[in-house]
Amino acid sequence: MKRYQEALILAINKQAAEWFGDVSVVDAADLARFLHSVKGTAATVGLEEVAATSSELLDHAEGSAKRQWNADELRPFLYSLLKLCHSFDTEPAPPEELPTSSGVGKGPLILILDDDPIFLMFLKESLEKQDWVVMTAVDPSKAIAYFHDYRPDCFVTDINMPQKNGLEVLSLLREKARQLLIPTIVISGYADKAHRIESYRTGADDYLVKPFDIDELIVRIESQLERKRSLEHLLLVDKLTGAFSRNYLDTAYERLNGHLQQTKESFAVAVLDLDHFKRVNDRYGHLAGDDVLKGFASFIKANVRMNDMLIRYGGEEFVLLLPQTGKAETKRLLEQLLSHFGGRTFEAGGQSFQVTFSAGVVEADIPGLPFDHWFKLADHALYAAKEAGRNRVELADGQSDKPMTKKLNVAVIDDDRAVRDLLNDSLRAFLQDRFQLKIRTYDGGVSYFADDGWASREPQLILLDGLMDDMDGLEVLQRLRAMPQSDRFYIIMLTVRKSEWDIVRALEFGADDYLTKPFHMNELAARINRLLRRMK
Ligand code: GH3
Ligand code: MG
Ligand code: MG
Repeated sequence: MKRYQEALILAINKQAAEWFGDVSVVDAADLARFLHSVKGTAATVGLEEVAATSSELLDHAEGSAKRQWNADELRPFLYSLLKLCHSFDTEPAPPEELPTSSGVGKGPLILILDDDPIFLMFLKESLEKQDWVVMTAVDPSKAIAYFHDYRPDCFVTDINMPQKNGLEVLSLLREKARQLLIPTIVISGYADKAHRIESYRTGADDYLVKPFDIDELIVRIESQLERKRSLEHLLLVDKLTGAFSRNYLDTAYERLNGHLQQTKESFAVAVLDLDHFKRVNDRYGHLAGDDVLKGFASFIKANVRMNDMLIRYGGEEFVLLLPQTGKAETKRLLEQLLSHFGGRTFEAGGQSFQVTFSAGVVEADIPGLPFDHWFKLADHALYAAKEAGRNRVELADGQSDKPMTKKLNVAVIDDDRAVRDLLNDSLRAFLQDRFQLKIRTYDGGVSYFADDGWASREPQLILLDGLMDDMDGLEVLQRLRAMPQSDRFYIIMLTVRKSEWDIVRALEFGADDYLTKPFHMNELAARINRLLRRMK
């Protein structure tokens, strides 16, 4: 908690210094927004006095008819707040207090938009202890882009922000959130009825007034996530067979593909199709056919592992996804299932009959490809199984004709040679199977920008050290973001824990993500994967 308090106090002092040093005037709206934001953050990170003082000042400021304030008026006005801030010791917290690396990208993804970077840092750290992955944005347009690209499991937004009102953001995302069943929570310093009602009208599922207890936010997010899960169940399960419906396929596949990207553990895709099913319908009627479909799905589900997923792809065709399973193992499993299922008898109209199925199997071992790629291979193998007389399992051939992989340029900018070498080696090991990869390393911003041909390259992933001698990482970041089409740069800042201020600024200046040194390669890998998914 202490470091967020320090960061907040630093931020207050900085804002005041900026205003006092500036000859021009400060808009009353900016002053109010500043006090509003300090009030919300301060109490949340345990600075009650600071919160109370800014709340009082906010009342005064809003009660005043002044449209603008000059430095001479501001100084006495903010005196009580600044005096309070000066009474705190702002030495950096000792490093042993600090937690080590956070989650590696398995849990639900929470996206939070708030214009206060310190508040965001605090939330990110607290929520990641829940095994959630937290993405933060200080800029509404960035949050909107993240929302579309990453489809978070929950979206949390502030209301009062300089660029765009949080409720506007909410109304822009409302339709998509509804389609994707993404719950939205408003967290705001406004406690009044009007803001609450407006928020709920705009589609918010929940509303929490700042300051709040972090445990309360966690419980509320949990309950939204729970509701999302049960809604998904209702929509994503096929009523006749109890298998997943085709709606679920994208989500299921995305998850497996993400896992493959992170761990290189391949999974199997099998396509299962009942043999001569039309005959069953013709001879015994559609109701009997339905019974067979039901019996087939429940038989498969009962005989595969918990995390294998059976999806009804269409009529009497099913897709079975088997995480962390190779093709040979899958073929063996399906052959066993085949012999058991074929031995079952179904009854209809006093007659009994047996049904078999055929299957095609492929092992998905290259990340980043669309589901269709694997489906076609498995379907082709299914066709071969039908041709070969049905009631059998065939493996896909031609798994080796991998399609051309995408290009990826990576720049590592760090003045520490050991870090450069480590990143160079690990990134190569982790990315080269998936991309035509080019990595270049630089000892600083000067050499990076001097390498013209390189900086102007197409999409580029940049790992940027925050503290460097020749040109500070933040300066490099600013220069990159000032370049044309700067969104082709995917930038991860690497900072040390002590420099809280760097993190705040990195987020403000448009870093896509940040990692604090020392970090685990797993964590870096997870974050890179998230970024890469946005690349076209
Ligand atoms: P093959 O061995 O080549 O797969 O032959 P088949 O007769 O099983 O193949 P085909 O795909 O031609 O026929 C599938 C049939 O499944 C056609 C359709 O009427 C039937 N069907 C699809 N959905 C349902 C359903 O929900 N209930 C019932 N009873 N039948 C269905
Ligand atoms: Mg705000
Ligand atoms: Mg069939």
